[in-house]
Amino acid sequence: MEHFEALIVGAGPAGSFAAELLARRGVKVALFDGRPEGEPKACGGGVTAKALKAWPHLLNAVGRTVDELEMYSPSGKRLHLKLKEPFAIYSRIAFDSYLRDRARAAGAEVFAAKISARGIKRTENGWMLKEVAGASDAEWSGEMLVGADGAGSSVARMLAGPLPPSEMEVAFGYRAPLPESGESPTVVAFLPGWIGYAWAFPRLDHISFGIATTQEAFEHQPLDKLLWDFMLGYYRQREDPRAKLWASRKTDRDRDQRIKAKLGSSAERYAARIPGLNDKTWDARRVCGEGWALLGDAAGFADPVTGEGIYYALRSAELFAESFLAQTPLDYEGRWRQDFGRDLKRASQMRRRFYGNFWGAPFTERMIEFARGHRGIKRVLGDLVAGEQGYVDLKKKLARSALRPV
Ligand SMILES: Cc1cc2nc3c(=O)[nH]c(=O)nc-3n(C[C@H](O)[C@H](O)[C@H](O)COP(=O)(O)OP(=O)(O)OC[C@H]3O[C@@H](n4cnc5c(N)ncnc54)[C@H](O)[C@@H]3O)c2cc1C
Repeated sequence: MEHFEALIVGAGPAGSFAAELLARRGVKVALFDGRPEGEPKACGGGVTAKALKAWPHLLNAVGRTVDELEMYSPSGKRLHLKLKEPFAIYSRIAFDSYLRDRARAAGAEVFAAKISARGIKRTENGWMLKEVAGASDAEWSGEMLVGADGAGSSVARMLAGPLPPSEMEVAFGYRAPLPESGESPTVVAFLPGWIGYAWAFPRLDHISFGIATTQEAFEHQPLDKLLWDFMLGYYRQREDPRAKLWASRKTDRDRDQRIKAKLGSSAERYAARIPGLNDKTWDARRVCGEGWALLGDAAGFADPVTGEGIYYALRSAELFAESFLAQTPLDYEGRWRQDFGRDLKRASQMRRRFYGNFWGAPFTERMIEFARGHRGIKRVLGDLVAGEQGYVDLKKKLARSALRPV
């Protein structure tokens, strides 16, 4: 049986980055992933400017950068945002393989194995892992167990306890072909009458469409219909720039039928959960203990307003690696709280208001309306998209911008 200093379950962004950082400093690392070859993690693949600045090597992964964004209010008002700094959109197969290859090149041993809680045993000097229902009866032992196995983490359930379904967001969507001609803009549209937003993230060879909403608000049929309307509107606008995003009475029925038929035969559906912790859970939940730690989605680290999790996956990996390498692994708990914990907790507190009403209309409607007429508010919104504007001082920044002359 091979012995390792760190056993990392899950080779998504969190697990692979932690493996790379540890292996590069000579730690003997085993990195496990049970995902079948070629199956992508369900994800929009959007990586903020803040993340690209923190880890510029991410730009070497095959993807595309975007410096313009179309935003729509729930009633369909459009706001064109020219971003100060671009963000990137990746296919998750390309992004995850890139990070995993870096971990391997740094010296981590990568195993294609699914490790569930049933296959994990605590021993006198650490842990023993076994592939459950695997092709081999291989076993691995190690001192530190790291759960980086995503939103449905069985390692987290075992070590930190289960999260209630109300603390999960739902995201689903379709991978669909790029339009035959014209530009493919990146779009974020707040949903009419629902909590959450729809996105269109064009990648090199397809578009990722999706909707993110809360578990409580999720109703499959009407939301799926809404997403189809959104996709239809997106392609309709490529053929006729004056067309509305959401269906209107004047639409060309033949054209819509044609677009629908094409999408019906080509779009591939995907769905998954994203953690969306309540503000009290941030205080109560511990993500590390003697001989173990949780990273990324497994720890619950995603923005409860937007569902963005890649930045937090990478940052938590970095903070954990720093703590481990300093031989104070338990310091990880204090480090993530100090670094981004306050902001994520603030986001949880804001979620209801963000998707609630403000001056007699949805807050998101007002936000887009104000940003259309006010350069300062537009700038704050741009910074929010770039990941540079946190939630802790968002209200103050918006109020201050609103008071400045247009
Ligand atoms: C539809 C959707 C759209 C999203 N869009 C965005 C976006 O545009 N931008 C953004 O920042 N975030 C987005 N997110 C969130 C983002 O996908 C996650 O926050 C991010 O992937 C978390 O990284 P991670 O490494 O913690 O977990 P994951 O990326 O989930 O990686 C976990 C890995 O663990 C492996 N694994 C799981 N169980 C086991 C096991 N038992 N044994 C071995 N391996 C296992 C999995 O195969 C996987 O490779 C989206 C999420 C969804 C669902």
